[in-house]
Amino acid sequence: MTSIDYRLPQRRVLVTALPGPRSAALTARRQAAVAAGVGSAAPVYAADVDGGVIVDVDGNSLIDLGSGVAVTSVGASHPRVVAAIAEQAERFTHTCFMVTPYEGYVRVAEELAALTPGGFDKRTALFNSGAEAVENAVKVARLATGRPAVVAFDHAFHGRTNLTMALTAKSMPYKAHFGPFAPEIHRMPLSYPYRDEAGLTGEQAARRAISRIEVQIGADSVAAIVIEPIQGEGGFIVPAPGFLATLAQWARERGVVFIADEVQTGFARTGAWFASEHEGIEPDIVAMAKGIAGGMPLSAITGRAELLDRVHAGGLGGTYGGNPVACAAALAGIEVMRSLDLPARARAIETAVVPRLRELAADTDVIGDVRGRGAMLAVEFIRPGTDAPDPQLANAIAAEALSRGVVLLTCGTYGNVIRLLPPLVIGDELLADGIGVLAEVVRDLTR
Ligand SMILES: *Cc1c(COP(=O)(O)O)cnc(C)c1O
Repeated sequence: MTSIDYRLPQRRVLVTALPGPRSAALTARRQAAVAAGVGSAAPVYAADVDGGVIVDVDGNSLIDLGSGVAVTSVGASHPRVVAAIAEQAERFTHTCFMVTPYEGYVRVAEELAALTPGGFDKRTALFNSGAEAVENAVKVARLATGRPAVVAFDHAFHGRTNLTMALTAKSMPYKAHFGPFAPEIHRMPLSYPYRDEAGLTGEQAARRAISRIEVQIGADSVAAIVIEPIQGEGGFIVPAPGFLATLAQWARERGVVFIADEVQTGFARTGAWFASEHEGIEPDIVAMAKGIAGGMPLSAITGRAELLDRVHAGGLGGTYGGNPVACAAALAGIEVMRSLDLPARARAIETAVVPRLRELAADTDVIGDVRGRGAMLAVEFIRPGTDAPDPQLANAIAAEALSRGVVLLTCGTYGNVIRLLPPLVIGDELLADGIGVLAEVVRDLTR
């Protein structure tokens, strides 16, 4: 990575206890104004964010190991992105691409065709959120195949709209009491190497799912398989090698659309532009969001031209979809990712962090698994001597790390996983300090 000029000092500095008085006051105001259903992982209010630090309203400088859930890979205020946003906003903030179109949208579509896996002819449609992208991918697959059923997997997370809640596996907090859910969603077993029976290969795990699909649904009723190449909210589960390729090949043979939900894994996060590349698969449609636009709300589906072009004009879109300011941010963000070679940076983060996590795992008896790819890494916490999930410990670790100035996120079907998603532009020293705090907290809480 070429050197980066940060605007804010890249240091962990605490000037108050956390949360500080100003954050606490905002929490009180928030409770009277913001719906309780919208949670926050860390009750500190951001004032200024750059590179790997979040400066809060009390002047504390925290290490960001979450990137706003894998969004700010280029940082939350990269100067090239900020300039592109300002320049576009001065010209126009909106026209609606479905009314009077603009070049930025077309350029983003051209970039995504070049960046996503597969050398085939592609088309793109832009939206606002990850859930919207996934939902539109399913719309396209159903229309193009004329089939109703959609296959999703255990531990999946695809969003919070009605269709994507149905695709999501975990009840609490995502689905509980929000039903009824969309029909024709069928859940199949995943490959979860840490929790599968020992020795189950990726291909065997895929065959297990395929035989269930064939028996319970029938291949010719299946419009699409929707899968995260590495599961995000479900616990950063990396399927065994061969799992995705076996599913993708079966889908191709049966005319089933293979949709990769790369909302969390995309845009250099896992050490490749897209996680599908690690398994050599070329999804028919890729759903993208999160890291796509330097923090601006934008999402996309890019896929085979013969699928996307089947849809009649007006069938896809949305008032704000592909907003011109978000497109300008995406184009600048992609340029930054290229010029800094952020896929290589993500691999360097893996190389630096994984040995430290493994060392921690060897030193304590509460870590069942260390996994992930690139800068999407996770530690699964268990009760000593068992594989029973320990979500209380994971939550206590995240809370204690925050009080020491490190923002860490949890995830996992069982809530027992600490996930690391640092901005890819984080400096080595700051990252090492953040991982050091995590290790220190684990040792302090389990000693
Ligand atoms: C976050 C996420 C979504 C949903 O994205 P939103 O922008 O929150 O709607 C969908 N799929 C995956 C894999 C995600 O990580």
